[in-house]
Order: sequence, then structure tokens, then C-alpha cells
Amino acid sequence: MANTILTGIKPTGKLTLGNYIGVLKNVKDLQKQGNTIFFIADLHALTLPIEPEQLRQNSIDIACFYLAAGFDYENGILFLQSQVDEHSILNSIMQNYMYMGELSRMTQFKDKASKIDNKNGIGLGLFTYPVLMACDILLYDCDIVPVGEDQVQHVELARNLAIRFNNRYGETFVVPKAQINKVGKRIMSLSDPSKKMSKSDPKGDIYLLDDIKTIRKKIMSAVTDLGSDITYDIDNKPGISNLLTIYASLKNISIEEACNNFKDCHRYGDFKKEVADVVCQEISKLQERYHYMLENKIYEKALSIGKEKAHQIASKTLKRVKEKVGLLDE
Ligand code: ATP
Ligand code: MG
Repeated sequence: MANTILTGIKPTGKLTLGNYIGVLKNVKDLQKQGNTIFFIADLHALTLPIEPEQLRQNSIDIACFYLAAGFDYENGILFLQSQVDEHSILNSIMQNYMYMGELSRMTQFKDKASKIDNKNGIGLGLFTYPVLMACDILLYDCDIVPVGEDQVQHVELARNLAIRFNNRYGETFVVPKAQINKVGKRIMSLSDPSKKMSKSDPKGDIYLLDDIKTIRKKIMSAVTDLGSDITYDIDNKPGISNLLTIYASLKNISIEEACNNFKDCHRYGDFKKEVADVVCQEISKLQERYHYMLENKIYEKALSIGKEKAHQIASKTLKRVKEKVGLLDE
């Protein structure tokens, strides 16, 4: 049987080049590898404060960017998490099988909570977020969850939850596996290459909707390191290594090949210009397609078809779970 591949993006902010390289860029290839289920994790976006209008627009933008990146919604599923009620119902069942100790070990929780000044004001949703994320995955019997490195820990937790439930009630869930890109699993901020490029914590990040001139400027002023050679060395040359990663992943080549392309280059400025050319070319094509999807409201059609298809699958899984735990179904 074909693999089922599922991945989601939270509409917490404007999409970055990290999201593009980590997920969007690969959607066409993923569609060739199996049944694809892509969703917009809008319930997850509520885990940190966000303005309603911004949440709505971010959600639409993600849908348009999935389509702009080449996602074919006739042959895959694209939907909004909040429009498929099974996610929330399964969440209220599964939270009983996840332990608080496990959740408090999550790096992302520790990271995001550390940025909230009032420690008594950390929302419960931020803490329990991985339970809902596990439900997002388990509802669709999916085998493979392509993610950036930051999400691997959460997928591990989803695996453990599935195994724990299966042991208690018998085979119920497919146990999923994270799949990380070889190149581009963790794009770093351009102004601080020790921090991940993140849409909810902007630090010199490149946004997919930045104008092309701004993108070029950001790359040209990216923080670099001592020396003048273009070599890949995460510890001693984090800035140059990050730019090499961006370059290699957009050109679909290995890091070694990328380094080889610049072996005779001894000026950071020349190197950055080449990186900027590659990024600007790819993002300007993407932006064109994004505007087409937005202006022609293609995303509305895709989401409405997707919602029905997702519900079909999710409702069957939920029925199975309800039976197993002893909840009466009609
Ligand atoms: P947030 O700050 O809200 O967590 P984010 O930019 O980390 O936003 P997510 O919605 O958490 O984005 O993740 C969407 C997908 O993008 C995930 O698969 C994640 O692993 C991937 N991703 C996010 N940031 C990067 C990055 N810097 N490099 C590579 N992949 C990334
Ligand atoms: Mg994230």
C-alpha cells in the first residue's frame, strides 16, 4: 500500500524561507511518494497570542503557498485543522494517555515558555500542544511525517502515544515516523545564525512575501564569520554554513557540491551575491504563483474539497478509537 504522508504548518506568523526549504519546496516530490495530507494547523496558532485578523490572513497565505509550491489538491488533501472537528474530539480522548512529565521535557515548550515574562500566564494550550499534534497525525493513519529538525521530538511523542494506546487497547493507530530533509532541515536566522529562522520569533528572517529587493538586502547583510573562505563548518562558521545550506537546498545539490562551486571564491560579498540571486529567483516565481492562487481564490475551492476528504478519513479513525475505549457511538 502507498505511504500516507502528512505535514502541517501553524499560521502563527508570516512564512519564512525556513518554512519554504523545510516543507513547501518538497510538496511536489512528496506527492510523488504517496498519499499526501497537508494541513494548516490553525488551532495550534492560538497557543501564543495572535490577532484574529492576522490568524485569518496567515491561514489563507499558507493555503496559497502550498498551492503555489505546486501542491495538487485534486490528488492530495489540503485542509484547515479547525474545520475538521475530529482533531479536537480525539485530543480530548488522547490527552488522558499522555504524561505531564513527557510534555514538560519538550524543547519547544521550554523555549517558547521561556520567552513569556509572566510565568503564571503561560497558556495551557502551549503545554498540551504536542497532544493535539499527535492527534493530527494519528487520525490519518499516516506513516511518514516530513518535518524540520525542530519537530522531531513531537513526532517521537506521537509515536510513543500510538504505541502506548495500541498496547493498552490492541492495534488501533499506525505508528508514524519523522522524515527529515538531508539538506535544509534547520535554516538559521540571518542576523543570528545560532537561532532557528522562525515565523513567530523574527530575527533577520526572510519572509516569503518580502519584496525581492528586501530579500536581496537581507542576504547581502547577513552576519558572516571571520576569514574569507567559503567552507562548511557549523561551529566556527555558522553564518557561511547557513548560507551554503540555503544555496545547496534551493539548487538541489549537496553541501559538498555547493562548497566546490565556491572553492575559488575568497570574498564573502561575491558569495552572498550568488546566494541572493538563487533565492530571489526562486522566491519571485513563488510569489507570482501565490498571487494567482490568492486573487483567483483557488485556495477556497481547495480547502472546501480538502475538508470533506479529511473528515471522511478522520471520522473512521475516531469511531475506531471510541469503540476501543468504551465510548458509545450512534
Ligand atoms: P513557529 O515559530 O510558530 O514555531 P515555525 O517557523 O517554526 O513557526 P512551524 O509552523 O512550527 O514553523 O513549522 C512548519 C514546518 O516548517 C515544520 O515542518 C518545521 O519543521 C519547518 N520549519 C520551521 N522552521 C524551519 C527552519 N528554520 N528550517 C527548516 N525547517 C523549518
Ligand atoms: Mg516551529
